Amino acid sequence: MSSIADKKPLFLPTITLGLAVLCSAALASDPVIVPEAASGFRASHTVEAKSAMAVTANAYATEAAVKILKAGGSAVDAGIAAQLVLGLVEPQSSGIGGGAFMLYWDAEKNKLSSWDGRETAPQAVDENYFLKADGSPMGFFEAVVGGHSVGVPGVIAMLEAAHKKHGKLPWADLFSPAITLAKNGFVISPRLHTLLVQMPKVAVNPAISAYFFSDATTPKAIGTRLKNPDYAATLKKIAKGGSKAFYQGTIAKNMVKAIHSDPNRTGLLSAADLVSYQSKERAAVCAAFHTYQVCGAPPPSSGGTTVIAILKMIEEIEKNTSTFTEADFIHTFIEASRLAFADRNTYVGDPDFVSVPTAGLVDSTYLAKRASLIKLDQRTPQTEAGKPPLAPQRITSASPELPSTSHFSIVDTEGNVLSMTTSIETAFGSRIFVDGFLLNNQLSDFSFTPTDSDGSKIANRIQAGKRPRSSMSPIIVFKDHKPQLAIGSPGGARIIDYVATSLYRILVEKQDLAAAISAGHIIAMGDTSELEIGRFTSELKNQLKARGHQFKERDQTSGLHGILIEDKKLKGAADPRREGQALGF
Ligand code: GLU
Repeated sequence: MSSIADKKPLFLPTITLGLAVLCSAALASDPVIVPEAASGFRASHTVEAKSAMAVTANAYATEAAVKILKAGGSAVDAGIAAQLVLGLVEPQSSGIGGGAFMLYWDAEKNKLSSWDGRETAPQAVDENYFLKADGSPMGFFEAVVGGHSVGVPGVIAMLEAAHKKHGKLPWADLFSPAITLAKNGFVISPRLHTLLVQMPKVAVNPAISAYFFSDATTPKAIGTRLKNPDYAATLKKIAKGGSKAFYQGTIAKNMVKAIHSDPNRTGLLSAADLVSYQSKERAAVCAAFHTYQVCGAPPPSSGGTTVIAILKMIEEIEKNTSTFTEADFIHTFIEASRLAFADRNTYVGDPDFVSVPTAGLVDSTYLAKRASLIKLDQRTPQTEAGKPPLAPQRITSASPELPSTSHFSIVDTEGNVLSMTTSIETAFGSRIFVDGFLLNNQLSDFSFTPTDSDGSKIANRIQAGKRPRSSMSPIIVFKDHKPQLAIGSPGGARIIDYVATSLYRILVEKQDLAAAISAGHIIAMGDTSELEIGRFTSELKNQLKARGHQFKERDQTSGLHGILIEDKKLKGAADPRREGQALGF
């Protein structure tokens, strides 16, 4: 097995320069939605295996997962090992200081479960938490950096609960790969280095500077071996004491202290918030698409309902169209995505706090009606939310989400399947580094304003104990009740479009997995559409313009990691835009 240490840097200087120019252009025109910096584009190819496979965002994590699979571990066991390693080697994206959504197929019981390890808001918050004294909402980074944005982390509680049900190897054994790597050191990857250079306000706390930087402004170089003894000690405690050692005791005390004393902005998260955290098992949201059943994470993630709604609207249009060209597809995708996002922005919030019409949002009759708003030859000037069955009266809210996050897909030797998306929200989260790990800034996924201009309440407003709406879209696709595909991606709200296009390319166009994941991205979350830069011909762009579309062209930083499950083999592929690896045996 090759490790990332053997690999050449993944990007060329010319590409980096281009990206830097693009990034600053994006910053200037749109100060809120700044993408996580891209770190290059490399070739991706589909890898095959017979019995088991893992695809994660980093070679170290994939290797840890495969080691566990070889030792007879279940997909959940391997997922735990992968997550703990990712928190070390891809700390900007996910970790034990964050939250996650996971789908799990139990092959023996023929049962799909869906796990919610989303962060919760502290009990002490009120609806005005993100408003300044003058009543206006805080700026994004103003809110993100410091203790104010930290929600109660859910990853450890969720993984422990899933391990109790689906684990085969002892909990403590799953910590060994990450503990060893943290002690001996891992090599800083090109992507981690690029993000240390390009993300704003990373080195705002001494603990972060000391760990990631050689001096006040220079991040440690690519290839530097980085040891994290504090993380090793933290993991040892959780390996021995379980989630209790995380949510209570010294780790908990240190988290609370760091949040309350952060020099940038303090937060309200308390020891009691940590003790009372509970992950949840909820019914996955599933719907028919062509001959498949597509299943995703339900609210508080908007991923499942929105991905499914886009696909079903496209299916509806395509079935009434004799020839469906690539331009027809892109046009229809944009229109369907705009409609689905209008519903998502209006109706999805934490279902334990607001009533969410989950079934209505993916209802076939409702979506056929929504699709009838799409004209094949012309862009609709304006899209508004519809009225899905059992929908309450609501108003639209957008929340700024910056892409960080990580997705991994794993299949074990017994055919159990795991699809998990995990996040500390924006790259490097709240910038609070405590006991060797970063704390999330997931509270900034709430709407910053609690009410609309007419005073009506926003579904995704912040409330004590509530979970912020997410876009994370871990998916498992079934055919004849058998799992066929596990896939998902990071990318903030763009996750939804990344995953939906890939599903279409894989399931309908039958493209090779790596080709589908590599295909140019189309984004349409509202009135502005985006095309991945350099990936579409002028002819196609002109055809879209003729139908009334305008679009920004920009880099897209998906991290689509998928596994196709065929009769006698598994096929895996990692996104060429990040540095993931697919490996199996
Ligand atoms: N915070 C986002 C969410 O939960 C994910 C951010 C990302 O993908 O980078 O949907």
